[in-house]
Amino acid sequence: MVAQIPLVDYLVLDDEPRLVSKQCVTCGARFFDRRNACAACFSTAGFDDVDVAREGTLTAYTIVSHAAPGVPVPFVAGVVDCDGTSVRGNVVNVSPDPEHVHLGMKVRLTIVSAGVDAAGTEAVGYGFEPIEGSAGSGRER
Ligand SMILES: [Zn+2]
Repeated sequence: MVAQIPLVDYLVLDDEPRLVSKQCVTCGARFFDRRNACAACFSTAGFDDVDVAREGTLTAYTIVSHAAPGVPVPFVAGVVDCDGTSVRGNVVNVSPDPEHVHLGMKVRLTIVSAGVDAAGTEAVGYGFEPIEGSAGSGRER
């Protein structure tokens, strides 16, 4: 059994992976990074941990064909609306081309291995993969 460590602290690896956002107790705005005050309403009243929906809709994407050395290209960088929470993440397990990736496609959270170190600990990030059945509808556009 390989130990798994999330790359970002808002990724929780339970039986099913999920993202946990900080939700402003004053206005309900959600953020993924640690903050001392809300960027939306400037409240310092604090934040609650809130689970983000595991499925969502791709609302923006870019097919990245040039990246830093060592980063495999092309890949799809996207923004997914998860039941009202906007999440940046790569679209994975799909051919990175406009034929297979389209706005409005349904995707779900999945984990992506970022490598295993010498001690056998696996670093795990997240991405979004197409939900079966939604593939192919992009041909109508
Ligand atoms: Zn706020």
